Amino acid sequence: MSSLNINMELKKIYHEMGLSDEVLKLGEEAENALSERFAEIDAVAEYNQMKVLHAMQECRVAEQHFATSTGYGYNDDGRDTLEKVYARTFHTEDALVRAQITCGTHALHLALSANLRPGDELYSPVGKPYDTLEEVIGIRPSAGSLAEYGVTYAQTDLLPDGSFDWDNIRKSINERTRLVTIQRSKGYASRPTLSVDRIGELIHFVKEIKPDVLVMVDNCYGEFIETKEPSDVGADMIVGSLIKNPGGGLAPVGGYIAGKKECIERCAYRLTSPGLGKEVGASLGLNQTFFQGFFLAPTVSAGALKGAIFASYIYEKLGYKVIPGPGESRHDIIQAVELRTAEGLKSFCRGIQMAAPVDSFVTPEPWAMPGYDDEVIMAAGAFVQGSSIELSADGPLRPPYTAFFQGGLTWNHARFGILMTVEQMKKDGILSEF
Ligand SMILES: *Cc1c(COP(=O)(O)O)cnc(C)c1O
Repeated sequence: MSSLNINMELKKIYHEMGLSDEVLKLGEEAENALSERFAEIDAVAEYNQMKVLHAMQECRVAEQHFATSTGYGYNDDGRDTLEKVYARTFHTEDALVRAQITCGTHALHLALSANLRPGDELYSPVGKPYDTLEEVIGIRPSAGSLAEYGVTYAQTDLLPDGSFDWDNIRKSINERTRLVTIQRSKGYASRPTLSVDRIGELIHFVKEIKPDVLVMVDNCYGEFIETKEPSDVGADMIVGSLIKNPGGGLAPVGGYIAGKKECIERCAYRLTSPGLGKEVGASLGLNQTFFQGFFLAPTVSAGALKGAIFASYIYEKLGYKVIPGPGESRHDIIQAVELRTAEGLKSFCRGIQMAAPVDSFVTPEPWAMPGYDDEVIMAAGAFVQGSSIELSADGPLRPPYTAFFQGGLTWNHARFGILMTVEQMKKDGILSEF
């Protein structure tokens, strides 16, 4: 088929799927403007693909590692090798990668509760952590929070321009400070996401003040976006969810913690039981999926990142505030778009939902989600429930009604999803432009 024919076919199928010529044109314009950016993303993906492949080869991954275990899960060679692959890829001494870690919040709670003791202080030098950690820490009272176990919490906010408040950080670190938590991604806040280099600078600073303090980085959404991870710049633990970047869209559940041997051992003792640690935990048939998802993760994350930048470009052009802007450097796959009204946020989410491979016919509605303070609206038609490496958008129903957009297992799908949001907002009379 000639390229002219392909273009006609493409246009035809896009029309059938609900995209108008104006919106298609906007998409083409954005893609052309971003071509250099996309070439850089491809280069990072190529490097990270080799990093994962190299680790798999060095760990001599073999077909036998796809075998499963049940019950106690003793001698599960596949599970143990997968953990070696994670450790090698992230340049850490050890890793815990388990289906028994139910989500990102669970992985973070595990890393914190395993490594803190009564009387210790947990400290965040980068402001308030992700919403669900408020109950984990006890910022909002909750049964079983760290506060109930006698662990106190302190925090220093970023300065208004997004930089670190060095003076107050120095003052806040005291004899009880045991663990410093650094969130790489902005989460539901409007602060900038931190680059691995900036995280490295911060770790260097706190370790100079207190060499034996442990540093944990919440790495959610950051994996494989740069050629380095926070574990390459001094983090004692990096933590994330397998239904985000490192699961490559294939992992149906799970979380990981990679880091120093003694930290990981404490995490394993906490996850299972003192004395049992990593020896138990059946892989329940998931080994092959976890390996394959990790193998795909660099390219899947790159496609999602292109989608985020594409969204940023288009919504800035349509007159919305976008964080980060389309020209800014990127350190995670989350794109925030301030939609200004509840109607705008709902309309955006409807567009994402309509673009989904699963449940494309349903209408997302706001609801009170466990662990979150405000009502949240979520759009996702995913193969894995709640998976946000798949095309998804969500946001709390509070001003400035920001949609947090992320994911897309393929760049083509992410691109389509964004164009569908524009089309939907146009239909709902929210965009005056068209
Ligand atoms: C997603 C996320 C979490 C929590 O992960 P869940 O899997 O939703 O529990 C924590 N921190 C950040 C920055 C996240 O993006």
